[in-house]
Amino acid sequence: MKDSSPAGMRWTIRLLSVVLFFLFIGLLCYIIGDIDDLRPPPELQNFYDTGIDAELTRAQREFNASLEVIRMDKARQQEIKTNRSEAMGVARDTWAQAQRVHQFELTAGRQPSTELREELAQAHEGYTAAQATFEEANTELADLGAQEYAIKQELATLENRIRPQRVEAYDLYEEATKDHNHTLATYKLSFIIPVSLLAAWALAKRRESIYRPILKALLLASFFWVVVVMHEHFEFKYFKYIALTAAVLIVLAFLVRLLQSSARPRPDLLLKQRRESYHRNTCPECAYSYPDDHGDAFTCPACGTGLFANCNACGNSRHNLLPFCIHCGSEEAASAVSA
Ligand SMILES: [Zn+2]
Ligand SMILES: [Zn+2]
Repeated sequence: MKDSSPAGMRWTIRLLSVVLFFLFIGLLCYIIGDIDDLRPPPELQNFYDTGIDAELTRAQREFNASLEVIRMDKARQQEIKTNRSEAMGVARDTWAQAQRVHQFELTAGRQPSTELREELAQAHEGYTAAQATFEEANTELADLGAQEYAIKQELATLENRIRPQRVEAYDLYEEATKDHNHTLATYKLSFIIPVSLLAAWALAKRRESIYRPILKALLLASFFWVVVVMHEHFEFKYFKYIALTAAVLIVLAFLVRLLQSSARPRPDLLLKQRRESYHRNTCPECAYSYPDDHGDAFTCPACGTGLFANCNACGNSRHNLLPFCIHCGSEEAASAVSA
């Protein structure tokens, strides 16, 4: 982008470069996502299936199934017990009622009728029967409880045998996951780092290229993904060293370039600086303000740099530090410019 481009065009170029940067980010995101899909991640269940004795798992499954059945039976039996307890209560009340009527007749000095006696006997029978069924439900429940306890004991023993195998299988799974991550990271980085380096190399090589904004967008986008991939796949303790090293290298590279260009300014920057100084009537070397009515030949009184001299071609006064004579256009030797 030339400094002389109109401001509107410069801003359009900047805006489009930013848009391009985000498009590059998106494109690289898809490519990296596809690399992720190249290999399915390890599955924990597979490691359990191979690492744990199948016989033990089968036994565990069966015990769990029986436990489930027993729990259902227990719930049902609990319900039956509650119902029978209620029925027993009703039978007891009926019997008590019959007893009270019977007693009343006796107290009144009357012999209770056959009907009444039968009623009392039936009520008593009913209560006894209800009590028996209630006891039965209770015993059944206690049996189920005992079975449940026995199965739980078996399960605990099994679990003790399975646990070490499961822990071992999980360790293997974790290791496989780590390997998987490293493999993916290697794939991704061996794609994204060359892209990044290529963009950086092209940018460093082609300082004058008009396509620099495109290269810059590609460099920044690919560098962004280098950081993201590293962050995703490396444990923090490694990542922080890598990130810090990269940051140090980048800052160093910029610093070295700045130091170099301040020691040996690039010709185009030097020319720009001199052009602007002449425009402001100041010495390009020491910023001394010289008067408008300087002679044909003029040396800076502050630093001794020759600012104006007679042209070798036309003899008129020319800018000593600029390449072309303002009068005849002849180009002076480069030594005058890089004095
Ligand atoms: Zn000067
Ligand atoms: Zn001239």
